[in-house]
Amino acid sequence: MARYNGPACRLCRREGMKLYLKGERCYTEKCAIEKRNTPPGQHGRARKAKMVGYGVQLREKQKVKRIYGVLEDQFRRYFEQADRTRGITGETLLQLLERRLDNAVYRLGFATSRAQGRQLVLHGHFLVNGKKVDVPSYSLKSGDVVSVRESSRENTSIVHAMDEVKGRGIPEWLTLDGSAGKVMGLPTREQINLPVQEQLIVELYSK
Ligand code: SF4
Repeated sequence: MARYNGPACRLCRREGMKLYLKGERCYTEKCAIEKRNTPPGQHGRARKAKMVGYGVQLREKQKVKRIYGVLEDQFRRYFEQADRTRGITGETLLQLLERRLDNAVYRLGFATSRAQGRQLVLHGHFLVNGKKVDVPSYSLKSGDVVSVRESSRENTSIVHAMDEVKGRGIPEWLTLDGSAGKVMGLPTREQINLPVQEQLIVELYSK
């Protein structure tokens, strides 16, 4: 399973906005975007040309891929699945990404970031409907229950995350009861609450 292992803050600087890839640090003044919001690289500060057309669409796609920690091939498969599904392709694409187990673990507050959620899922700390699932891309359905395994309830990363993200809120498509969360329905576009223009990604892939 390939994944990006480079510096996370560099990705935010490339997109010129906070993508919240590093958990707690993203909410402090140590955040690289707070300190210097310039593109990475030797000529980062010099790059000022306004992007149009393809460039804008490409950046939007990169932004969403980076937010969810998905690489190109997998992202394209999500797009193809969204394209085959009835409804608005861009919204369906975001919904498919949002339904990933690692994202739900993050949204429920069991992890401080999606990357940590992915790691915790891979280490087998969660059950879906009572069965261990260690696949971060596992797609949740309405009615599914995600719970922390009994033996993982004292896991320091999970306990710390639950403490840390308290008060940040849980999206309406999920509910939390102690160490278990339930999928109340598939996430709507309003509930996904991400500053992205998914239509640009549809336009990019439809060329
Ligand atoms: Fe992005 Fe978080 Fe790094 Fe800030 S601290 S640049 S939000 S990953």
